[in-house]
Amino acid sequence: MPFDPQLEQAIAAHMQYLRDLGIFDFYRRSNPQFADEQDDPVAISLTQQEPVIPPRKPVPLQPIVGSFVAPESRAEALRAIQYEIGDCTRCALCAFRNKIVFGDGDPNARLMFVGEGPGADEDAQGLPFVGRAGQLLNNMIAATGLKREQVYIANIVKCRPPQNRVPEPDEANTCSPFLFQQIDVIRPEVLVALGSTAATYLLGVKSSLSGLRGRIHACRGTKLVVTYHPAFLLRDPRQKKEAWQDLKLAMAELGLAVPSR
Ligand code: URA
Repeated sequence: MPFDPQLEQAIAAHMQYLRDLGIFDFYRRSNPQFADEQDDPVAISLTQQEPVIPPRKPVPLQPIVGSFVAPESRAEALRAIQYEIGDCTRCALCAFRNKIVFGDGDPNARLMFVGEGPGADEDAQGLPFVGRAGQLLNNMIAATGLKREQVYIANIVKCRPPQNRVPEPDEANTCSPFLFQQIDVIRPEVLVALGSTAATYLLGVKSSLSGLRGRIHACRGTKLVVTYHPAFLLRDPRQKKEAWQDLKLAMAELGLAVPSR
């Protein structure tokens, strides 16, 4: 029996909140309607879930922001998160970075993109998606009719992994609570996960990109669309058509028409 989408969103947001508190083991009472757990569709769907990503070490974060930040205070609330991050040495990536790449864009954006982690250009400039993949992301955003300054862009980790390797789970789990705070402040209406790393840590579940694309997920009370990472699209441009379908899905959720191409 499928959940009501609003209830599903509320449950997902609450589970994320509990994970942020460092609570990872969830138990549920069996449904008295079903004599046997094997007949219970909810129990079955829970046991069929992909494995949850490894738990993160609790990060002692101050409650910088409340549950709702007024639009006019969001820029300041983001600065408070950046201040809290400081000259971060919470994980091993600090040894390799030049600049922390906090995030960039409109603090009141309706649409937010999340990538994996800074590359060489981003590490040098302290800004997300300013290299070759960034150029492609800019073109993708322009194709929607939006300007880059109208969206917000951030990454799962804020420091460049050496040789652009995928962030280790402990690095992603140490850094991502700050990204979650940014999402909570900005409250975008739609999040776009760029690639598998972003999708994994935003959803809390590791799944294939093909299984995640083409539908709306929930993340922190926000709708989430999964698409290919621009760096992957540079390697395999044939998939750009697919990525465009994903962006159109995101724009439809925003109620915005895309310019005809
Ligand atoms: N790739 C990412 O995932 N993020 C960036 O900021 C740049 C390249």
